[in-house]
Order: sequence, then structure tokens, then C-alpha cells
Amino acid sequence: MKLCRYDDNRLGVVRGDMVHDVSAVLDTLPAVRYPLPDHDPLIAALPTLRDRIDALADAAVPVPLAGVHLLPPVASPRKIIGAPVNYRLHHDEALADPTIHHQTNIMPIDKAGLFLKATSSLIGASSPVVLRHPDKRNDHEIELVVVIGRRADRVTQADALDYVAGYAIGLDMTVRGTEERSMRKSIDTYTVLGPWMVTADELTDPSALTMELTINGSTRQKATTADILRDVPTLIERASSFYTLMPGDLIYTGTPEGVSAVQAGDVMVCSIEAIGTMQVAVTV
Ligand code: MN
Repeated sequence: MKLCRYDDNRLGVVRGDMVHDVSAVLDTLPAVRYPLPDHDPLIAALPTLRDRIDALADAAVPVPLAGVHLLPPVASPRKIIGAPVNYRLHHDEALADPTIHHQTNIMPIDKAGLFLKATSSLIGASSPVVLRHPDKRNDHEIELVVVIGRRADRVTQADALDYVAGYAIGLDMTVRGTEERSMRKSIDTYTVLGPWMVTADELTDPSALTMELTINGSTRQKATTADILRDVPTLIERASSFYTLMPGDLIYTGTPEGVSAVQAGDVMVCSIEAIGTMQVAVTV
């Protein structure tokens, strides 16, 4: 199942080029009272809502995907986790290029661990990335994103995929510089998630997916998740050994080689096998 959010917070099922409105299922979610839940309520409830969502999608009059404004498919992640230099060739290019590393200590992921991005940086595919500090180098990083489906506290690699709700395409936009990653990667609009979430029953194996990012038609990044250094189960084990993962938490799994600067006016087209394609504009 491909689940999207669109327009005025509607929930849709994507079938082919069409969106089937299943927003009525949101009325079955628990009413939110202060304090707010520590997880995304829709992702947490998804296993119990699947049949109702399918039935609503079957009954809906579909509208063309091309005509809707796509929001991030997960509305309220409580954590956005990032994996630094998790592809060997990106590690090599980062070490070789001072405009990427800025004399900061580029450490292997096993030493550096993971980092966090501010949830306020999250946008969907139909919103533009709005550049800040355009005098500095602002880079695209295409990444496979894992959506956590249920509470995960110190889970093992062997069990890790049981905790995944689904996958989406991510852009971990980054301004290069000497600041902490958590600051450089948390600018408003610098975390793109889309175009929808493919549920884990449909995408069962994330270990060899081709991915590509083009800018204005020319290929910048082209790789496969088979080249990842620490794979999805390893990242879940590592993350959940430090903090409990909650439904809706996102893990950006790292970018392959080919990162480069974007400018206002650019259009990034991002594709990951078995998920789809999203087109994201860059503005100032
Ligand atoms: Mn990244």
C-alpha cells in the first residue's frame, strides 16, 4: 500500500497515477488532548486500520496524483534520525573535498554514531526547499528513509525489520560548514519526505534498491542501497540501543556519492526503486 498525505491534511492511497481519498479513517484515531502523544498516532494505529483503508480506497472516486499538493507522508514524527557517511564512496568524496568536510572530523559511522534533525525541518514533495545561507554550499543528499511502525527499545538486527511500518524517499538537505550536523541539517524545509510511504508488506527487502537523483535533467547521484555500509537492520539496532524508537520516527539511512550544490531554480528529481519518484523545487 502507498499512503500519501495531501492538500489540507487529507490521507490518500496511491494506485497508479491516482489518489484515493481515505481521510474518513482519520476520524477513528484517538482524540488528541494535552499532553500530545509521544508518537505519530496514524502510524501507530496503521495495523488495525488497514482493512478500513482498503475499503475506503476501493469506494473512493480517485483524483489525479498530478493535481494534488503532497505533504510529508508522516505528519508528526517525534524523532528524525540521520546516518552520517554511510556509503563508502560518499565517505571518500567527503574526505577528499574541503568544501564538504570543512576540516571537521569525518568519522566512520561506527565511531560517529547517528545524529538528529529538527522535526520542524520536515516538508513534503510538493513544497520547495527554501535555501538559507545561499552564500554557502547547500547540498542535496538522496536517502532511503525508514518509517518506524512500533515501539522499538534495544531490538536486535534479526528482529529489526519487524518494527518497520514502511519506506519513503528522503532528501537530507545540508548546508556545508563547521557547525554541528544537527544545526546544518535542521534548517526549515531541509528534510524532504515523500512522495508517499510504501508499507513494509509491499517493500519487504530494502537491501538492494536502485536510487537516482537528477538536477535539471542531469544525473548527480546514482547508486544502490546494496552499497550501504550499515544496513537498515543495523541502523535500527544501533539507534534503539540508545533511545526508544516510536511509531512515526524516521531514520534517514545515509546518502551515496555524488552530493553537489543546489541553486535557486533547480529542480531535483529523486527516484528509489519500489517506492517511486518525487520532484522537488529549490527556491530562495
Ligand atoms: Mn545525509
